[in-house]
Amino acid sequence: MATSPQKIVIVGAGPAGLLFAHYLLHRRSQQYQVEIYDRRPDPRQVAVSERRSFPISLQERGLQGLRGIPDLEAAIAQQSLPCQGTVVHNKQRSREIRRQNTVLAIDRNTLVLVLLEELSRRYAAPQVQLRFNHACETLDAAAQTVCFKTPDSQESAVHYDRLIGADGAGSQVRDLLAAHHGLQSAQALVPDAYKSIFLARTNPDQGIDLANNRIHTANLNQDVRIVLAPQPGDRLHGAFVFNAEKNPFADLTTPTAVQAYFAEHLPTFGALLSDAEAQALLERPVARLTTITCDRFHEGDRILLVGDAAHAVSPSIGQGCNSALEDIVILNQLLDRYDDDWAQVLPQFSQQRVPDAHALRDLSDYAFPRTPLLVLEFFLRLTLGRKLHQWFPQQFQPFVFDLVLDTNLSYAEVLRRSSGWINKVKRSMTVESPLT
Ligand SMILES: Cc1cc2nc3c(=O)[nH]c(=O)nc-3n(C[C@H](O)[C@H](O)[C@H](O)COP(=O)(O)OP(=O)(O)OC[C@H]3O[C@@H](n4cnc5c(N)ncnc54)[C@H](O)[C@@H]3O)c2cc1C
Repeated sequence: MATSPQKIVIVGAGPAGLLFAHYLLHRRSQQYQVEIYDRRPDPRQVAVSERRSFPISLQERGLQGLRGIPDLEAAIAQQSLPCQGTVVHNKQRSREIRRQNTVLAIDRNTLVLVLLEELSRRYAAPQVQLRFNHACETLDAAAQTVCFKTPDSQESAVHYDRLIGADGAGSQVRDLLAAHHGLQSAQALVPDAYKSIFLARTNPDQGIDLANNRIHTANLNQDVRIVLAPQPGDRLHGAFVFNAEKNPFADLTTPTAVQAYFAEHLPTFGALLSDAEAQALLERPVARLTTITCDRFHEGDRILLVGDAAHAVSPSIGQGCNSALEDIVILNQLLDRYDDDWAQVLPQFSQQRVPDAHALRDLSDYAFPRTPLLVLEFFLRLTLGRKLHQWFPQQFQPFVFDLVLDTNLSYAEVLRRSSGWINKVKRSMTVESPLT
């Protein structure tokens, strides 16, 4: 006898929510009806300039998530550039750190757009329904309803069989679980703030042509760094990251002053900065980031948190999105193992994933050092340490970045193998852990 499909309501049309929709419909499209709600407007209808943007490096963990859905990786690859390593630019010279595996550098909003377009190309209502401009407001777990509000204050209550909180670091679903269902969660502000930045990749007049298959970065000092990824159209998109208490823009009031700052401190990138972008940088708001730590990612057998809603981390080692997509791979494995019995899948997901998420927070907070001496040691370990590992694999472990970026070892295992370095950096810093 045919059973009626389960209604899965996903709050948040970010990378995690959209990839989960793909997986659910791909596994059993007759068994699930997916409704996705997002508080923002439909990105297919919003001009690019209105969207927040920064590049994401997708490495093995994230790419594995895309590979589970036929042709999805190819669709994403068409909109991104493959990078085989990083160039660290200093005033005097630049040095290259190669990666074993290729990463795909893609703009966060382009990633979302492709996931969305592919979803609506493959499935139609009633299997998938998309509702934008709907902000999750309240939740009644006993009645299995979640309420949304539109910008014109229309409210709607939606029934669900399962509710997925994929609504990012500021998750309302998580906050409601914490307020009414005993979920233990903690938030901490990342000490860094950032501004998105958009540069040209080449400046023929000055003979600058940065490689379009490398991430480009520079560390001005322990308080300021810039990370840029090549994008289609000979562009570099990235983030200008700084200690939130020492905002270098605080003293810059004109585009000329911004140009002069870059010319003095980051000359290579200064040569790629247009006057219009210098002006836009002044006006672009400073973004702050939070880390999220939870003691579990589910409530009963009906509500689940994934991605940043469950475990947002500092972007310092570029794992937020990769781990969000990896969540979906793990959920899919559990749905396979328990034959789509969510009552078993949800607690198993928490049991397996919470230790990884806590490990990832430590790795993200402490893999990259802040003191000048440790920054020097960091680069030595990345270069000389890698050689030593090749020559004496028994005596020298791969460095933490190589374990995170070039393997799919669990984050808990990476932390275990890298505990010496992580503890050393931790001791040199005063960042407090929000929940242990
Ligand atoms: C500067 C920067 C660089 C980064 N670089 C990398 C990188 O190189 N590699 C990497 O892996 N990660 C990176 N990240 C992290 C990555 O962007 C996030 O981890 C990833 O976007 C998380 O995906 P998500 O789907 O869980 O959440 P999000 O991308 O935050 O999506 C959440 C969605 O939920 C919606 N939403 C929020 N609240 C509500 C509500 N109340 N009701 C309805 N909808 C709601 C939002 O509108 C949004 O669409 C970077 C982040 C930053 C800031």
